[in-house]
Amino acid sequence: MRFFSTNSAAKPSFVSAKEAITHGLAPDGGLYMPEHIPSLPSGVLDLLEKKSIREIALEVSALFLESEIPRSDLKNIVEDSIHFDAPLSMIDERLGVLELFHGPTSAFKDFGARFMSRTMAYFRRNENAPLTILVATSGDTGGAVASGYHGVEGIRVVILYPSGKVSPLQEKQLTTFSGNVEAIEVAGSFDDCQRLVKEAFTDSDLRATLELSSANSINIARLIPQTFYYFSACAQLRSRGILESPVFSVPSGNFGNLTAGILAERMGLGVECFIAANNDNKPVAEYLRGEDFRAVPSVQTISNAMDVGNPSNFARLLSLFNEDRDAMRTRLYPFSVDDTRTAEAIASCFRERNYILDPHTAVGVLGLEDYRRDTQSSAPGVVLGTAHPAKFSEIVEPSIGQNIPLPPQLQAVLHREKKAVALKAELSRLKSYLLETR
Ligand SMILES: *Cc1c(COP(=O)(O)O)cnc(C)c1O
Repeated sequence: MRFFSTNSAAKPSFVSAKEAITHGLAPDGGLYMPEHIPSLPSGVLDLLEKKSIREIALEVSALFLESEIPRSDLKNIVEDSIHFDAPLSMIDERLGVLELFHGPTSAFKDFGARFMSRTMAYFRRNENAPLTILVATSGDTGGAVASGYHGVEGIRVVILYPSGKVSPLQEKQLTTFSGNVEAIEVAGSFDDCQRLVKEAFTDSDLRATLELSSANSINIARLIPQTFYYFSACAQLRSRGILESPVFSVPSGNFGNLTAGILAERMGLGVECFIAANNDNKPVAEYLRGEDFRAVPSVQTISNAMDVGNPSNFARLLSLFNEDRDAMRTRLYPFSVDDTRTAEAIASCFRERNYILDPHTAVGVLGLEDYRRDTQSSAPGVVLGTAHPAKFSEIVEPSIGQNIPLPPQLQAVLHREKKAVALKAELSRLKSYLLETR
């Protein structure tokens, strides 16, 4: 499978998976997309409920990568990456939360980060020069990337995060690794961090001295593993006797997860509709409602991993729908909600269904309820459970009036010491740091 840049769609030139995954962002600033979207063989689709998520993952990833990674190596990558499950927890008869938070950092980004680090390491296995990965995070990405790359040889990871805008636990998850993983605390917003990373990639001095790559949701190696669990969700519905195509509600920030859902659908998965569930950062929801797309500065909310004013994967969504908004609207239902209603939803879900939502997943549940009211749909619903509620205890505990025990993997992190370099949000500062410490 070859890949092209969203900025050169009119006259595409293609690169290998190795090139697309090693570089993350295309040289023209676009995002890589597969040359075509392969179909999962009907033999696999029809027997989905008989397969584990790892078996599904091998079938799906082989379609994209088998020409460059032999199946036996791909099997090792899959098994090492996805060593945890994604159980569907039914909170009523027709509504399940797909719990994507059973990995090492308790958020869905473990799927992408672990798979990407291992495919990258595979492609780098014969190289001498180290690769420097720059990541901007608004919260969960950095922790998952830090954990996913920690100890991976030949790769240095530098993580930029906005000072004071991530939760205390998220900060610990970013800043307590040593060795090949470093954290930079930026005096600015997430958008500043994202801008700095983009500027660094196009800076000629940096490009001349360092081999730079990205691990943001712009890397295609993160989207591929995020398709696995959409198939797994349908498999789990079927094994409960629920055979209709579900509605997926996807709590969205940079729209990587939702883009992966569209890929899964194009690969042959039956889906009634996707809900683009946003907090008050909602340029995509507004675009879907008929307004012009306008990137805006991000605003802070209690679902802070979705505080994105200029979603990077919007370019991929446009590409998948040939820039046709009406076509996009037939598959994506827009939803946005403020913090007050989100906190109320956490409380009422606990009261009525005895299930604890994190603030991001709560936005997804509200999106699904809104969709059902609005369309009278009776399709089964799947909400992507993007983070464990204990990661956001300062928000969730007051809503439910109870303490939530931390999963053991998070407890361990709390006691480690923070190590971060403070920087102004200026490219010149980032440049000096990267060049002096290389
Ligand atoms: C990153 C993240 C999101 C948003 O995912 P995108 O792929 O960026 O849309 C939602 N919830 C949580 C907990 C996240 O970490």
